[in-house]
Amino acid sequence: MYGLMMKTPLLTSSLIAYAADYHGDTEIVSRTVEGPIHRYTYAQAQARAKRLANALLGLGVRRGDRVATMAWNGYRHIELYFGISGLGAVCHTVNPRLFADQIVYIVNHAEDRFIFADLTFVGLLETLRDRLRPVEGYVVMTDPAHMPATSLPNAICYETLIGEQPEAFEWPALDEDLASGLCYTSGTTGNPKGTLYSHRSTVLHSFSCCTADHPLAASCREVILPVVPMFHVQAWGIPYAAALAGAKLVLPGPRLDGESLHELMERERVTMAAGVPTVWLGLLQYLADTGKTLDHLDNLIVGGSAPPLSLIEAFEGDHGIEVVHAWGMTETGPVATTGRLKRKFQDLPLEARHKIKLKQGRALYGVEMKIVDDAGHSLPHDGKTAGQLMVRGPWVASAYFGDEAASAAAFDAEGWFATGDVMTMDPDGYIHITDRIKDLIKSGGEWISSIDLENAATDHPEVAEAAAIAIAHPKWGERPLLIVVRRDGAEVTGAQLRAFLAAKVAKWWLPDEVVFVGELPHTATGKVSKFELRKRFADHVLPDAR
Ligand code: ADP
Repeated sequence: MYGLMMKTPLLTSSLIAYAADYHGDTEIVSRTVEGPIHRYTYAQAQARAKRLANALLGLGVRRGDRVATMAWNGYRHIELYFGISGLGAVCHTVNPRLFADQIVYIVNHAEDRFIFADLTFVGLLETLRDRLRPVEGYVVMTDPAHMPATSLPNAICYETLIGEQPEAFEWPALDEDLASGLCYTSGTTGNPKGTLYSHRSTVLHSFSCCTADHPLAASCREVILPVVPMFHVQAWGIPYAAALAGAKLVLPGPRLDGESLHELMERERVTMAAGVPTVWLGLLQYLADTGKTLDHLDNLIVGGSAPPLSLIEAFEGDHGIEVVHAWGMTETGPVATTGRLKRKFQDLPLEARHKIKLKQGRALYGVEMKIVDDAGHSLPHDGKTAGQLMVRGPWVASAYFGDEAASAAAFDAEGWFATGDVMTMDPDGYIHITDRIKDLIKSGGEWISSIDLENAATDHPEVAEAAAIAIAHPKWGERPLLIVVRRDGAEVTGAQLRAFLAAKVAKWWLPDEVVFVGELPHTATGKVSKFELRKRFADHVLPDAR
């Protein structure tokens, strides 16, 4: 017997419609590329998203068409998130930090019909335009006063485009399983792969973001600042979740340095901010240098790569801000876990609590997780045995967009997605990353975790950043090389670092050599590029093999 309840489709347009109706005077504040701070409300955001939808129809955009954005976190980008998807087209967020060839691949693969770009990226697109075959026109996200002269074909100014349009627009009642958004992973190996979000997955993910134990725990009492870019995994879903909650949004535009973030956080009374460890280390440094404080921030959400213990200690200990760790991937919606502590852990001594917070969190409702060995057998949840993390759930991808080979490799017959992350899981369900499969170092048949080595190294007060990679070794197969960036003015030596590490990791894990560099290469998403490092050190010979 079926229930007798309404089958209302879950659509992204319902999120902005709700925010406009019930939180119509709640603000969205943006630092613009042009410079000044822009502020308006959810009611105004919806009105302009509707003008945009009319404009897109006028351009001939139809259901299922891909429309790309290349833009910072700002109000026009919010309008595109809702306007494109609300219409039934697919909002394809392109990461401008990718290599040129990857951008070309992605735009062609997605068959984007139009690209909406911030002023910052007009020059980049001009250099690529001849290779972006499917693109019929470009919309520069600015007003007529700032519209540059450009060689982009069919270039239109955003404000001119939507200014001519009526506000009246009825969001169509779409099938909730239709695609709403498209994001490609940076693809450090092989071609980038596309995750095609649906309306349903996006709304369910947003509901999840508003539950009390979620890292974001979004509500209308919060002022949320996503530092994580809207061009990378939909800013962890925050634009959609904030609308569902009716939370005030503060968008940092192109300025992500410690000083700019601090200024915005204080002025707008931001209570919750989300970003990768690198961004928070920059903010910490700014606070340390200036002696300034954060008087409104309650929660700092960190994810995307493993945060060092020192980051958690500094924010919680020195600034009284709760750090919440999250794990996820483009393919998982993206947020799949929460690092919020269970009740039974809340009275543990600080050090023990921080140890749990360093883990990548436990599954949120809706996300199933298991860890498996090479043969695909489930491994025990003992906090020690490591295996590949497999996930499935209503906001996890079921295939890659237009890529059968990559899909066949990552999705199994029972509907599990192989994450490529090696994890342990403890009896409470907290997962702990030891590595990405391709980054593990295999020495004498045993695995060394590059992440554990890096974390141990960055606990040293004179180390700013560290990366461990495998170097071929005649006897052991592979041995770890540690590549380190010292803090400004620091003089720590390789021998001193090895002595420091000896107290933290097994003896056979100690790196054979420590080399110091001025800077580490980073991927488009701010993570250390092991791929680039492996290339750079491809011919490196370790001391005892020389
Ligand atoms: P990209 O490879 O383009 O950076 P994603 O942004 O989807 O793609 O990155 C997902 C990967 O980031 C995960 O598979 C994992 O390796 C890493 N990651 C995400 N969150 C964390 C975290 N909290 N701690 C450690 N690694 C993380």
